[in-house]
Amino acid sequence: MTAERFDAVVVGAGFAGSLVADRLGRRGWRVLVLEAGAEQPPAEQLQAFRTAVAKVPGSALAPNAVVPSPEVLDLAARDGGGHRATGHLLQNGELPYGSGYLRANGGSGLAWTGLTPRMHPEDFRAGDFGPARSWPIGYDELEPYYRAAEREIGVAADADEQRVRVGLPLPEGYVFPMRPVPPSYLDQVVAAGLDGRSVRDPADPRPTPVELRVVGTPSGRATTPATFPATAEAAEAAEAAADRPACAGSASCIPVCPTGAKYTPLSTQRRWPPTVQLRTQAVVSRVLVDAGGRATGVEYQAYRDPASPRHTRHTVHADVVVLAAHAVENARLMLAGGLANSSDQLGRNLMDHPVLLTWGLMPEQTGPYRGPGSTSGIEGFRFGAARAHRAPFRIEIGNWGWSWAVGPVDGDIAELLHRGDPAAPTGIGLFGKELRQAARDRIGRQFALQFEMEQEADPANRVTLDHARRDLLGNPRPVLTYGLSDYVKRGMAAAKAVSDQLFALLGAEDHTAHHPGLPGYFEYQGAPLRFHGAGHGAGTHIMGDSPATSVVDSAQRCWDHPGLYAVGCGSMPSVGTSNPSLTMAAMALLSCERIHQDLTNRHRISLST
Ligand SMILES: Cc1cc2nc3c(=O)[nH]c(=O)nc-3n(C[C@H](O)[C@H](O)[C@H](O)COP(=O)(O)OP(=O)(O)OC[C@H]3O[C@@H](n4cnc5c(N)ncnc54)[C@H](O)[C@@H]3O)c2cc1C
Ligand code: SF4
Repeated sequence: MTAERFDAVVVGAGFAGSLVADRLGRRGWRVLVLEAGAEQPPAEQLQAFRTAVAKVPGSALAPNAVVPSPEVLDLAARDGGGHRATGHLLQNGELPYGSGYLRANGGSGLAWTGLTPRMHPEDFRAGDFGPARSWPIGYDELEPYYRAAEREIGVAADADEQRVRVGLPLPEGYVFPMRPVPPSYLDQVVAAGLDGRSVRDPADPRPTPVELRVVGTPSGRATTPATFPATAEAAEAAEAAADRPACAGSASCIPVCPTGAKYTPLSTQRRWPPTVQLRTQAVVSRVLVDAGGRATGVEYQAYRDPASPRHTRHTVHADVVVLAAHAVENARLMLAGGLANSSDQLGRNLMDHPVLLTWGLMPEQTGPYRGPGSTSGIEGFRFGAARAHRAPFRIEIGNWGWSWAVGPVDGDIAELLHRGDPAAPTGIGLFGKELRQAARDRIGRQFALQFEMEQEADPANRVTLDHARRDLLGNPRPVLTYGLSDYVKRGMAAAKAVSDQLFALLGAEDHTAHHPGLPGYFEYQGAPLRFHGAGHGAGTHIMGDSPATSVVDSAQRCWDHPGLYAVGCGSMPSVGTSNPSLTMAAMALLSCERIHQDLTNRHRISLST
């Protein structure tokens, strides 16, 4: 049988893959997108989410034993130290890698929270400040692609606030496509308590206090479209947002937005030109390269029944292969094929934004569990000389009460029913009016702070393969080895000290408690701490300016293989403190220029021979 031929084959129809396919398709290239997961219409996702017992990121997806989505629920502490994971990911590190990802059409962008801050110019030069790596490109080179990504995603933000409060050099007259998401009631309460006041950063030897300011977080969810001057860019932004209603505040952004206000890659897919073809339930198992190392296509396994290992094998040839399968799966695919690793950096440098959570009760009602998971943050610990002493961090103000830190509100109600005594039988605690009042007092005053740390690239944190343990299709499973450096732990300890000062300024009761035995627990200088994963896996096919020290170049092209691109957060040399997907989308758009150039050159060569 003759193998099919396309100009480009894209592996993965998630955030990055959907964008790359769109831009190449619009240039007229014939693109095949191969997606491992199944197609699940949003209405079915909603139904699955409503009936799921644990409302985790993958809870809106139908079960798929062939390509399961890794979840943190798999994590358990091991007797004698360390952690194990029993799902798709195997774990092998000092500390657990606490983030999952989704394998379904649309990828992890189906369940993302939707926060889209840009990285700060300083983040691209992280190596000048601390142990994190600098980028081979700077903010200025990425800036036009940031704008294009913001148009595609329909980002809601206030340009002046981002300029003044975050220090972003946005172009003169720039308008974000959507008006900012209004601050939550909690944001307003916190701002009233903190704005203009200051706290000490204990890790910074300088006595300069850090001034506090609550700042709106850019977000990929529809609000009211902004008013633009009539330009082609404005028309593009309007088109991208046209099919999404304004955010209604229903507070289930993870895992699924019931109204469609939140951007997902399916929004980009809906606008794909006819030159783009999608094939779901198609798991790429091998990248094909010729004798000169050039990528020539892929092999994939097609399955029909998500519960059965039965599948058929297929080959597709293409001038360009773009891996967009997520940081972990991109590395897994290249490791399996023995590709792209002359630097010995492939699979290494696995990063996330380790998150410290603190939580408490405000003196007054905060109106939690409404609107997006976070609408504002505190930016003052992201920048500057303190980076030399501890990991920088961004503080998100969490609108969803204690749900991330402790669990859903059912736990609070159960505790009130037992009057705080878990051994007491249900029914002898509070009930009726007393229960309603206690619930209002307890749940209505909840708030949480989420401290997201920059984690530097550490070659010891890595993805490897276990050839003895394979998935249902017979492919080796990924093994993650993960830990936190002293730099990150120092950042967490500083964040906890900052949190203590914020709680004191707010007059809040601190209920934060980190218990040994829970995944992510560790002690630093005698103090108990615990981190959670942010879902921001990065670094596994790290970008750099030399093939000796990196896997991809600044356009995400694998140094070792002409025609092979690995796109996504896996290329990031460092992650700053911003949620990464906007930057990842900007990088993907930059790569598309180079891929278009590659394809044009290839086409010219084949026409002239
Ligand atoms: C709960 C949660 C909340 C998040 N919130 C935010 C946020 O607020 N802001 C932010 O910036 N980021 C957020 N993120 C991170 C964001 O979702 C990721 O950065 C982004 O989705 C990564 O995009 P990607 O295209 O690289 O991978 P994905 O979106 O994961 O897509 C990869 C796709 O490739 C497919 N695939 C995998 N292997 C194969 C194969 N062998 N063959 C074919 N297809 C394959 C997968 O099925 C999947 O569809 C969040 C993540 C999670 C989990
Ligand atoms: S708050 Fe509700 S409507 Fe708004 S993005 Fe989240 S889930 Fe969608």
